[in-house]
Amino acid sequence: MNYSKQRTIAEECTLEGVGVHSGENASLTMKPSEVGGISFRRVDMDGSPEIPANLESVVGTDHGTSLGSGSATVLTVEHVMAALGVAGIDHVILELSGCELPILDGSFRSYLDAISEAGIVELDAPAEVVRVQKTLAVNVPTGASYVATPSENLRISATIDFEHPDIGRQFGSFDISEEVFRREIAPARTFGFHEDAEELRARGLAQGASLDNTIVLDANGVINDGLRFGDEFLRHKVGDLIGDLALIGGRLEGHIVSERPSHEGNIALARKLND
Ligand SMILES: [Zn+2]
Repeated sequence: MNYSKQRTIAEECTLEGVGVHSGENASLTMKPSEVGGISFRRVDMDGSPEIPANLESVVGTDHGTSLGSGSATVLTVEHVMAALGVAGIDHVILELSGCELPILDGSFRSYLDAISEAGIVELDAPAEVVRVQKTLAVNVPTGASYVATPSENLRISATIDFEHPDIGRQFGSFDISEEVFRREIAPARTFGFHEDAEELRARGLAQGASLDNTIVLDANGVINDGLRFGDEFLRHKVGDLIGDLALIGGRLEGHIVSERPSHEGNIALARKLND
């Protein structure tokens, strides 16, 4: 994340697939842009309404971060935002042909690979830096808590705590660079509990969830064929946090220590850091 100049992608690239919550297919085309920040366009809607990828656009944090502007919304933006954030992309147009980003394999990897394959163009303008100036804390009533302290680079420490014996309490700390993210975080997939599936589906969520894009746990353990990391759950939560913090824009410098991070808490932290 220590790229000092603003950046965009060199060529456009496209990914497509089902949305984990909506169950609807959509195609995402990323297009280079030298100005304007990161912005979604709902190209399936009349007039292709634009939704800036920033904190003001956040309209939902229930099992994913959603952005909206007027009647246009985009669901589950955190994985592409994490990939753009660690790649230091400041300006890009994200044309989406549906309401939700493709979940792909449930991890961040395909987004990061697509950006790398598209190539990077460094612009003349210096990147904006958002520095944690003094120690601050954020707690949300649903249980997530955070402390942010000054640091020269972005470091993320996180603890998660789930009753399920295959997860339990997991802790990790990562100095976030594109390379560290690619190796340590990007492959980590999203996860859910089989016992919650019915309730989520009744609420209109997880309509596109499957073992191809989600680690599913039941009383006997992980249903999928194995994990990519022993602490894949923790690593995915770290990636989600990076994606939510990317909505601040610019290069974040600080050490974020988080306990049970959630999208709701991540966005509350991002708003406080942005003050
Ligand atoms: Zn996620």
